[in-house]
Amino acid sequence: MRRERPPAPEPLGAAVIDSHTHLDACGCVTAEDVRAAMDRAAAVGVVRAVTVADDLDSARWVLTAAEADERVSAAVALHPTRANALDDAARAEIEKLAASPRAVAVGETGLDHYWPGRMPGCAAPDEQREAFAWHIDLAKRLSKPVMIHDRDAHDDVLAVLRSEGAPDAGVIFHCFSGDATLARACADAGYYTSFAGTVTFRNAAPLREAAALVPSELLLVETDAPFLTPHPHRGRANEPYCLPWTVRGLAAARGADPDAVADAARRNAERVFNLAAPAL
Ligand SMILES: [Zn+2]
Ligand SMILES: [Zn+2]
Repeated sequence: MRRERPPAPEPLGAAVIDSHTHLDACGCVTAEDVRAAMDRAAAVGVVRAVTVADDLDSARWVLTAAEADERVSAAVALHPTRANALDDAARAEIEKLAASPRAVAVGETGLDHYWPGRMPGCAAPDEQREAFAWHIDLAKRLSKPVMIHDRDAHDDVLAVLRSEGAPDAGVIFHCFSGDATLARACADAGYYTSFAGTVTFRNAAPLREAAALVPSELLLVETDAPFLTPHPHRGRANEPYCLPWTVRGLAAARGADPDAVADAARRNAERVFNLAAPAL
């Protein structure tokens, strides 16, 4: 049974962009579903979203969604846990889909050290590393940023970026889960860090300490919906319209004004994803 969505938060006073969401996993199927989700988001100040694929079916779907609603952009890759499915046919299709003008990033790719051995069929670490390197190379060839999934793999992700060389178009650590040390390493390298609902969780003091260190020009925000619903609705279904709670939690961690954080995150998303500014 689907989890119930929380009531809408108080709208933000500035436009913001959800830099990483999964509209298909939120239950969107048709163009009308996508428009309805983005209407709910727009009502609280979330003017755009990047919807991210994690397998081939999803990759085809996210481009359809991005073509159906101009507020939606796509990111295309095979998720690290599915890196063992990256055969020649999959590579050819990901390349074709990621080249679309509606695809604004290659992702999510990276390393997940949590699931191998816990989930049947999960790609092994060496398969993930090879797929990550391939996606980095694809991002370079397309002049698009790479969107990174890093779960329990901070040092190895940085090592792969160092050995392969980061794409000039940018690096985004989605659902940033590191501490102050990783935040400083990302800032020094010029990588973007995207904060999800986890920054609002009660037990996330090291993450809030990291969030306070990120330069405002490298800050992004995301829902990673339908997962990681922010406090005070943790456990319920997440959607792009839930982003204001995360913006407010992030602003509190930084001692900043929520609208200023929203505005900075929007401008950063427009820059790294090469989006036209919204007509406000
Ligand atoms: Zn992820
Ligand atoms: Zn995700």
